Amino acid sequence: MGKPTGFMEYKRQVPADREPKERIKDWGEFHLHLTEEEQRKQGARCMDCGIPFCHSGVLLAGMASGCPINNLIPEWNDLIFKGQWKEALGRLLKTNNFPEFTGRVCPAPCEGSCTLGISEPQVTIKVNECTIIDKAYENGWIVPNPPKTRTGKKVAVVGSGPSGLACADQLNKVGHSVTVFERSDRIGGLMMYGIPNMKLDKSVVQRRVDLMKAEGVEFVVNTEVGKDVPSEKLLKEFDAVVLCGGATKPRDLPVEGRQLKGVHFAMEFLHANTKSLLDSNLSDGNYISAKGKDVVVIGGGDTGTDCVGTSIRHGCNSVVQLEIMPQPPMSRTPDNPWPQWPKVLKVDYGQEEAIELYGRDPRDYCVTTKKIVGDENGNVKEVHTVKVEWKKDENGRFGPVEIPGTEKVYPAQLVLLAMGFLGPEDTALKPLGVEQDGRSNVKADYGKFSTNVPGVFSAGDMRRGQSLVVWAINEGRGAARECDKYLMGKTTLR
Ligand SMILES: Cc1cc2nc3c(=O)[nH]c(=O)nc-3n(C[C@H](O)[C@H](O)[C@H](O)COP(=O)(O)OP(=O)(O)OC[C@H]3O[C@@H](n4cnc5c(N)ncnc54)[C@H](O)[C@@H]3O)c2cc1C
Ligand code: SF4
Repeated sequence: MGKPTGFMEYKRQVPADREPKERIKDWGEFHLHLTEEEQRKQGARCMDCGIPFCHSGVLLAGMASGCPINNLIPEWNDLIFKGQWKEALGRLLKTNNFPEFTGRVCPAPCEGSCTLGISEPQVTIKVNECTIIDKAYENGWIVPNPPKTRTGKKVAVVGSGPSGLACADQLNKVGHSVTVFERSDRIGGLMMYGIPNMKLDKSVVQRRVDLMKAEGVEFVVNTEVGKDVPSEKLLKEFDAVVLCGGATKPRDLPVEGRQLKGVHFAMEFLHANTKSLLDSNLSDGNYISAKGKDVVVIGGGDTGTDCVGTSIRHGCNSVVQLEIMPQPPMSRTPDNPWPQWPKVLKVDYGQEEAIELYGRDPRDYCVTTKKIVGDENGNVKEVHTVKVEWKKDENGRFGPVEIPGTEKVYPAQLVLLAMGFLGPEDTALKPLGVEQDGRSNVKADYGKFSTNVPGVFSAGDMRRGQSLVVWAINEGRGAARECDKYLMGKTTLR
């Protein structure tokens, strides 16, 4: 611990984001960096508290508390304070294959369990992480490091999201020949075509993919396993298969008017936007435009927020985000104590921008959609809603109950459905005879990651359901470890 009194001397400081009014004019990332001196002080705020819950990564009350990949946070905080950035990088890369992704998009459960956070604002763990890796790239410390020898074993990874990439990276490191199959035209999964560019610049994803290519990982795009390549063929041609296809089946809204023109799943909107942005800077017109429209986003989560931010950048006329759940509290409630994940109101970038532009938070809580109404040409025109209150039924289960007289009509020429995901698509799974659980996720125990088919493993959202990038990295690493053990009888992977 470099600075025993750092937490008393220095205040928490995160870099200011670019001003909302400025950043909505482009698709560039909105986070900035602190100066080196400021960042070192932030490292010094870590108390090295002795029991660092921040790197425990356990589930408490069903949510992650601490870092799911067990980043060695106090160690690199100390090294940051001392200005030993290269050493900090070494510690960071021991547990995290892709800190440039988590440092940008992770909701940072580590900070929710930071011991300093009991009485003071937490250590800026996520920004510290991002600074270490960004500095490493700037200084040319991240260079291809292919394995010295090959084992002669071949592994197919299906899906190129963070779980597939982490798995491929680990297996390649120990000398297996890895081929990643991806049905999209670009590698990265939801980090490429889900999370918008302003949150995670796609050049950051591509830079890592290029590095992995230079290290010997083979990527095959525009190839859907189970359709373009029979799943069984993978079993014959590879020594093992790891299924990392994500959980991208969207939850639908079965109400009158769902079929109207202008009603889309959030992912149709977000995927097309990023593709068009990367292909042509949006000049090809191959995206769903929100320009000049009243946009209603149904779903108050992170995907909905990305729809808000994207609609604003298109130049929408107005945007609202409807959420059926009540507004979270402003601070922790007694039944949500430290070090649990704090279930408190978060004003994310999309809401911040909407407040700046339209003078109000776009989220309306405790609202359910009754029907969607169209015009004479079948275009969406209105969303009809009613307020609900959450009450216990006779079995003691909470559910939404409509409040008469609270009906409301929202004008809408674009409706985006962002109500979560139901599970994986099974194109690659069925032909292999891979068992799925009650929620349709691939049945494979956490920690083992092996399916009922010998030599077939699964990781990430495809196994655990829609989750977070950091969990996908955790699972990809775990599946690689188990796969290596299966292939070699032992493993050095952790
Ligand atoms: C809009 C949105 C925003 C999000 N924002 C955040 C965020 O800010 N922070 C965060 O931590 N998490 C976020 N998430 C969640 C996070 O992106 C996912 O949990 C994570 O990407 C899961 O990784 P994965 O590798 O398991 O799957 P995915 O990233 O979903 O990747 C799976 C890949 O497999 C491919 N695939 C599927 N089937 C086949 C097949 N048969 N053949 C070939 N390829 C196939 C898919 O095309 C896809 O590219 C967000 C999710 C969404 C939808
Ligand atoms: S990966 Fe996420 S949880 Fe882990 S240290 Fe980084 S920001 Fe925190």
